[in-house]
Amino acid sequence: MRDEVVRRNPRQEHIIRNRLHPEHAALMAQLSGPELGPTGLVRRNPRNVGFIGPNGIRRIDRSAGETGGAFGSFGVGKSSVTTSREPELPLHQVIDPEFFIAVVPDMVGGRLSDHDKDMLGLAHQLANYQGKKGAVLAIVFSEHKETGFDKAGVDRLLEITDSDFAGFSPEKRLSALKQVTEIYTPDTWLFADSIHGSGDTGRRFAASSGLRIAGGVIAVGEDQSLQCRASAGTQEVTRKSEKVLLVLPECADQVSETRHEALPLSLDHPTLTVNRIQDCGQIAVDPKSIPLAEAEFILSGGNGVKDWDLFHQTAENLRATEGASRVAVDDGFMPRATQVGATGTWVSARVYIAVGISGAIQHLQGIGQCEKVIAINTDISCDMIKRASLSVTADSSAVMDAMNRELDKERQEVLDHAV
Ligand SMILES: Cc1cc2nc3c(=O)[nH]c(=O)nc-3n(C[C@H](O)[C@H](O)[C@H](O)COP(=O)(O)OP(=O)(O)OC[C@H]3O[C@@H](n4cnc5c(N)ncnc54)[C@H](O)[C@@H]3O)c2cc1C
Repeated sequence: MRDEVVRRNPRQEHIIRNRLHPEHAALMAQLSGPELGPTGLVRRNPRNVGFIGPNGIRRIDRSAGETGGAFGSFGVGKSSVTTSREPELPLHQVIDPEFFIAVVPDMVGGRLSDHDKDMLGLAHQLANYQGKKGAVLAIVFSEHKETGFDKAGVDRLLEITDSDFAGFSPEKRLSALKQVTEIYTPDTWLFADSIHGSGDTGRRFAASSGLRIAGGVIAVGEDQSLQCRASAGTQEVTRKSEKVLLVLPECADQVSETRHEALPLSLDHPTLTVNRIQDCGQIAVDPKSIPLAEAEFILSGGNGVKDWDLFHQTAENLRATEGASRVAVDDGFMPRATQVGATGTWVSARVYIAVGISGAIQHLQGIGQCEKVIAINTDISCDMIKRASLSVTADSSAVMDAMNRELDKERQEVLDHAV
């Protein structure tokens, strides 16, 4: 009985109520540690966002420090990088997997893309379907820089980093995947329905193994039926599941509440078939010829660009595709085809540099799919800086000048090395 008596602490309650109390912040930080739900999963309190400013008003810091993004926010002259305290997530272990769900991620730039993480989220969903104990097996070809396989939901990791598998090597990859089939007999294969290589491997794999394939998968239902895009994305159809799925971005929630083992697996000796395709390397294309909607790297200019020649020169030096805000287009500085936004093109670049663009809602709609946004703006409170992963608060011409100087220096060093 004695243990059930709740003892109140009036002093603590007073400090909690009084936001201006000198001990308020410390006490709140102490009380608001990661909260575990009944299943052991970490629960987030959506109201526990931001901090209380000196005048008692709640301030929300949208820089990556609070939102858990990769970068902090940089100011001119002074830079401030905020670090976030990451709670330890509960470990999801699959000791003796009943079956495997194999995933072949794109690994664009040597890292898991958001599309890859969505796909791993779907794999996790399939592996745990109706309480089963499946494991997510990720198969990664060539060298990579990824360190977050565990947090992305990978239970088993098969890295085939032999130099023979680098570049465009479909025949070798197929032979390795066939060996995976023989050893691990995956229940389902997931490939990214994208232009970055995973989808191509998936189609080749299905054709050469005589397996049926389902493309444009956007969701898997409770009954394991597939929801897919059809007719060039104009229709949605429901169909029965197949062994090989080509999945689209946002097909499932990314894994965020558990940590996985990512235990390394290996193939004894990845079979090398006779190689009829030889990768002669990539050909440089003119960034201006890449359609804006497909561009991976965009330098976009707005009303804050004061020197348009410098802007074009910077885009050329960076080998970036040019984009623009509507104001820059309406003022005649940029062609209409370059307009990004609700009434222009919706872009999905991996890196989008917004130079002197305020971040009006119509513009932000158009860059919703971009992975990393870098803002260059003199106004630290503008919405583009709130959206950005990295921001530079400075005059656009000064920043572009500095970028060009650095790029020239780097290029010179490469030339010096080559001699
Ligand atoms: C129906 C409708 C549809 C629209 N569709 C679109 C659309 O598709 N795309 C689109 O972009 N807009 C669209 N707009 C317009 C949109 O609302 C904004 O007006 C527009 O995006 C603003 O462009 P901006 O950010 O370049 O200019 P501004 O809003 O003028 O912002 C300029 C920014 O540059 C900064 N700046 C100024 N000087 C400097 C400097 N020297 N160095 C660095 N930064 C500096 C300022 O701080 C400011 O943040 C639409 C509007 C409507 C009503």
